Amino acid sequence: MKYVDEYRDARVARGLLAELAQKVTRPWVLMEICGGQTHTLMRYGIDDLIPSQIELVHGPGCPVCVTPLETIDKAIHLAELPNVTLVSYGDMLRVPGSQTDLLQVRAGGGDVRVAYSPMEALKVARALPSRQVVFLGIGFETTAPANALTIWQAKHQGLTNFSMLVSQVLVPPAIRLLLSSPHIRVQGFIAPGHVCTVMGYWEYELLSREFRVPIVVGGFEPVDLLEAISMLVAQLETGRAEVENQYVRSVTRDGNSPAQKIMREVFEVCDRKWRGIGFIPQSGLRLRSEYATYDAEKIFDLLDKTVEEPAACISAQVLQGLKKPTECAAFGKACTPETPLGAPMVSAEGACAAYYRYRRHSPVGN
Ligand code: SF4
Repeated sequence: MKYVDEYRDARVARGLLAELAQKVTRPWVLMEICGGQTHTLMRYGIDDLIPSQIELVHGPGCPVCVTPLETIDKAIHLAELPNVTLVSYGDMLRVPGSQTDLLQVRAGGGDVRVAYSPMEALKVARALPSRQVVFLGIGFETTAPANALTIWQAKHQGLTNFSMLVSQVLVPPAIRLLLSSPHIRVQGFIAPGHVCTVMGYWEYELLSREFRVPIVVGGFEPVDLLEAISMLVAQLETGRAEVENQYVRSVTRDGNSPAQKIMREVFEVCDRKWRGIGFIPQSGLRLRSEYATYDAEKIFDLLDKTVEEPAACISAQVLQGLKKPTECAAFGKACTPETPLGAPMVSAEGACAAYYRYRRHSPVGN
């Protein structure tokens, strides 16, 4: 398949590994932001194949993992209401809230449905005019245009029984937070190719200049990631700190203008809480006041309350690249994909799930 097979070519990958071995002269710590990239690295054993001087740590780029526990609890509360149909991506059904999860609510008779796109939720709303249909709209800049377009269509179709519980987050403010931390170990970033396909990479140029850190926009196949790692190491070894684009087949500097336009029309930037990390200034999107009648938080008067994470879960450190999933005492024991304690073990893009699926290392100390 074009644009896939050539990026999984073992011969090309071996060549890149040999090149990398020649380039690297000292230790470097690199972070991939996106959960999809984490899974490719684990699946193909890339972290074991690259020279041992290069350490890969995993960032907060899994949308399910960073959706706050409070938002999950709000979705659960809505799904338990007798007149509400809650529509969500499948991954979200198994994410544990503070008491239960959406799968359990559905088993108990709640009307919880799985969709592959927000537009499917609109169809449900049109088909069930006597019910309030709420879509759980989560994710990064990648899902924001489709969610925005869905709200825009709901307004223009005059739907009055559709709303969205919004938990949209933005990547650059999270990178800024990581770079501002006194504990930062990361010396170079692989930026998320899908997010940059929508937004471009000009915002990353500001970060790279301000923090003197190399950033390479990377794709999702093994050859993409080996190339991105090699480009980062080349910058670090020669003292450069700039933004380079490895994922040229999808990403341009300015991104997808029509997608950004509909995002700006429907959403505005706001402070947002990230699960495991806390509030990050200007790191999220919320519905503009013109679309307030589609905001589930307002329609259902959902109250903000703080919910504690399970004490055993160290996802905060995992999502900031400070610890590996295998350093969590619950990994593979109390916490497995069948009995997840934290979101990074639930999502197909979560770092803990990736380690469990492809490695199943024993927890540290065992
Ligand atoms: S292994 Fe489970 S408990 Fe540990 S950090 Fe990951 S999600 Fe949390």
